[in-house]
Amino acid sequence: MTQAATNTPGTSTSDLMVEMRGVNKWYGDFHVLRDIYLEVKRGERIVICGPSGSGKSTMIRCINHLEEHQKGEIVVGGVPLTQDVKRIEQIRRSVGMVFQHFNLFPHLTVLENCCIAPMWVQKKPRKEAEEQAMRYLQRVRIAEQAKKYPGQLSGGQQQRVAIARSLCMHPDVMLFDEPTSALDPEMIKEVLDVMIELAEEGMTMLCVTHEMGFAKTVADRVIFMDQGQVIEENAPEPFFNNPQSERTQLFLSQIL
Ligand code: ADP
Ligand code: MG
Repeated sequence: MTQAATNTPGTSTSDLMVEMRGVNKWYGDFHVLRDIYLEVKRGERIVICGPSGSGKSTMIRCINHLEEHQKGEIVVGGVPLTQDVKRIEQIRRSVGMVFQHFNLFPHLTVLENCCIAPMWVQKKPRKEAEEQAMRYLQRVRIAEQAKKYPGQLSGGQQQRVAIARSLCMHPDVMLFDEPTSALDPEMIKEVLDVMIELAEEGMTMLCVTHEMGFAKTVADRVIFMDQGQVIEENAPEPFFNNPQSERTQLFLSQIL
């Protein structure tokens, strides 16, 4: 990755990028998040793992209010998440999100996908937005596909576009929700390599992933969730070599 686009941090001056304090959420009667406490410092890389249905997606989606929590406090870059639409917008602008199924706009080209938010949300002139988009597309090594539509690209290429599109908004923190789990095996590495580069450049990242090699290389902390709770949290080395809880041990024995 080149230096070209690295000197464009987001706007937050807070050292704690994400704070969750006693966060609880219900879907109807179903208690999906139970007393979540989490602090993520600027530049920290967190990997979140756990069985399917344990609440990983719900937890990270609460951070940018794609899901609403009912109890507890979430603060992003020093801004408390409330019902206030202005605050929600402010937080969303500082949080990039990458989904399992890419979620690119299918009727827009790769370049347009990367320009639309900077132009509409940040009011950047088209030319500036396009120049910036090309720089980020270069960073994820896909600039030559800029005029194509998402449907013309492989999954790995689409996911790299999705990462570039997020970066075009200069997020303070990036959320990844199983970004490689919909990809064919040969495409996983090209996406993980981009994520590793982002981590090396100091991006604050929360990644839901079962790519344990990635966790070992990149994570400052690994969090294990089960049934809506954080069961265990540790640096990768002790997390993988000496998991404390039986549930963590069982989970790791099933995926490693
Ligand atoms: P994970 O990402 O760990 O697989 P999720 O956060 O997607 O887990 O889901 C946690 C639980 O909440 C699951 O049991 C899921 O079925 C349930 N769930 C997720 N989204 C909804 C929803 N919109 N309405 C009702 N239940 C949901
Ligand atoms: Mg999920």
